[in-house]
Amino acid sequence: MTQFVASIIWCLGIATWLAIRWPHRRRARKTKIVAHRRSAGERVALGLTILGLVVVPLTWILTDLVEFADYPFSPIQGWIGAALMIAFLVMFHLSHAHLARNWSVTLELRANHELVDTGVYGRIRHPMYTSFWLWGLAQLFLIPNAFAGATGLASIAWLYFSRVGEEEEMMRAHFGEAYEAYCGRTGRLLPKFTANE
Ligand code: SAH
Repeated sequence: MTQFVASIIWCLGIATWLAIRWPHRRRARKTKIVAHRRSAGERVALGLTILGLVVVPLTWILTDLVEFADYPFSPIQGWIGAALMIAFLVMFHLSHAHLARNWSVTLELRANHELVDTGVYGRIRHPMYTSFWLWGLAQLFLIPNAFAGATGLASIAWLYFSRVGEEEEMMRAHFGEAYEAYCGRTGRLLPKFTANE
């Protein structure tokens, strides 16, 4: 694999990410919100993810502004990056498909919000965030630049750590014991396999 092919794979990954998200975004606009925890910090975190995962790598591909941090590309890193990009897209698609009308880009509860605990949510509480970490890793491998390769992971870390506690608190406040029990049988980012199954 060449550096050029790795950049094409990155671009195709971004296009597929947008295509997967599009119908969910449209449906979400039509589904009533009954509670939310949107904040200025939340908006900043979302803005930073777009910057770190899309704008910076695109700048690296299209300009020589961050060329100073380039390092030699190795084909194996391109293959690893491609595999991570596919894993990201599969996980991203599954989390949207299984969360369905309960999905939001931010922290919101919709009318008749259901606690989803099946499919990819059966063993993992935050599969979409798992997919985001995979996306950040894919970028690290596909973009051979110490700065533009790493900004994705940095912005994911910011979003994840600033948001996951607040999101779980919102879910606990709404679903009470049911969410508490759900937390007990799932892992945050990696599947939990309990002994008594
Ligand atoms: N953190 C989840 C979902 C991200 S989308 C993941 O990583 O897969 C964010 C919205 O999903 C939140 O506003 C919350 O209302 C909703 N949500 C999160 N977990 C949920 C679940 N198990 N069932 C239903 N809705 C959920």
